[in-house]
Amino acid sequence: MSSSCSRLDGVSLFPEPDGDSWFLYALRCADGTIYAGVTTDLDRRMAEHNTGRGARYTAGRRPVHPIAAWRFPDRGTAQRAEAHFRRLSREGKLTLIARREPFAGADFCLPSADAGADRFCPRCGEALKTSPMPGDERSRQVCTGCGRVHYRNAKPCTGALVTRNGRVLLVKRAIQPYQGCWDIPGGFLEADEHPEAGAVREVQEETGLDIQLTGLLGFYVDRYTHDAAGEYCLNIYFLAQAVGGQECPAEEATEIAWFAPDDLPDEIAFEHTHLVLADWVQWLEGEPA
Ligand SMILES: [Zn+2]
Repeated sequence: MSSSCSRLDGVSLFPEPDGDSWFLYALRCADGTIYAGVTTDLDRRMAEHNTGRGARYTAGRRPVHPIAAWRFPDRGTAQRAEAHFRRLSREGKLTLIARREPFAGADFCLPSADAGADRFCPRCGEALKTSPMPGDERSRQVCTGCGRVHYRNAKPCTGALVTRNGRVLLVKRAIQPYQGCWDIPGGFLEADEHPEAGAVREVQEETGLDIQLTGLLGFYVDRYTHDAAGEYCLNIYFLAQAVGGQECPAEEATEIAWFAPDDLPDEIAFEHTHLVLADWVQWLEGEPA
């Protein structure tokens, strides 16, 4: 990815590489399995896994999400810890991770997935506290006042792969996150809005084009930003064709353009967008000419 694409607009989700430390990390794959490995640079390694260049195991189980990391002074201690970790049962691994416990003498060093979550109970206003729950593989936020469990959910977003003559419509983002990167037109759903209506509205707002949806491409979970406050989003993508309107980029976009499947731009916004475009290319290849 080109350096002109400002991917991060805050603190990274991961501890910074310092040149000496090796990390043992664990990922949750798309099929729910856990994968472990060692690296000096968690950000780079995660990008490799999510573009299919990390490992054969993870390439077929994307997207992957980091769920744990421990920092070691050198490669040898990290690899010994990795071997030890792989021998744990799935339940043992998940318990260790849910409790964010030290492992093989190293402290858990991945910021909490609860970073960016609500800090106060929406019902009574008391502080929320994250604790492991009996019989639940994940920690949950629980209200210290009324005891209510505060479940978190991904925010729903919707967008459309609008194609014309085999090319897809992309918009260049004028705003953070990922300012200057190409993105699929779309956005957050209103509370009472159907995803189909939201996709049509977002494309109209961002590009000036009226579209007709022709199918569903799929669902993708991603973080909105990769900083500690990054909210999870459930992204719903439709297939569509333009039926009217005039191309006119909105305030949120500096440029709009149509791209052929073998000529997609390098500077792509959001991790999951790479997967969406790869799926769109695959869908296109299956279409009758
Ligand atoms: Zn409460």
